[in-house]
Amino acid sequence: MGAMAECLFCRIVVREVPGRIVYEDEHCVALEDINPQAPVHILVIPKRHMDSMAQVTAADGELMVHLLLIVNRMAKEKKIIDRGYRTVINTGSAGGQSVYHLHLHLLGGRPMHWPPG
Ligand code: AMP
Ligand code: ZN
Repeated sequence: MGAMAECLFCRIVVREVPGRIVYEDEHCVALEDINPQAPVHILVIPKRHMDSMAQVTAADGELMVHLLLIVNRMAKEKKIIDRGYRTVINTGSAGGQSVYHLHLHLLGGRPMHWPPG
């Protein structure tokens, strides 16, 4: 079994593992985080497996912009676009990444603090 077949988020994309999917298109899926850190905590993930932000190249530019626009779309749907929200990409072990399938966190619905810790 290859790495992608074992990847949690790849399995959620193909519905092998249940997930609270709130948006889907040809290129990505958005789902509710299972352990929310804010009233709004959505993950936007590409359908195509990429381990992390560290693998992203200029060839992925259109996809990356698309993922960011879906973050905005979700922020609008959750009515936090005007109040503000945070977009996070944890990369690698020191970056706090725990699932090695690229994902953008959308966090909001409460004031977010800085530094993030
Ligand atoms: P990161 O630490 O940036 O890799 O983020 C991984 C995120 O995935 C964490 O916020 C987890 O709570 C979340 N997560 C882990 N398993 C699941 C799952 N089965 N469904 C939804 N979110 C999950
Ligand atoms: Zn994957």
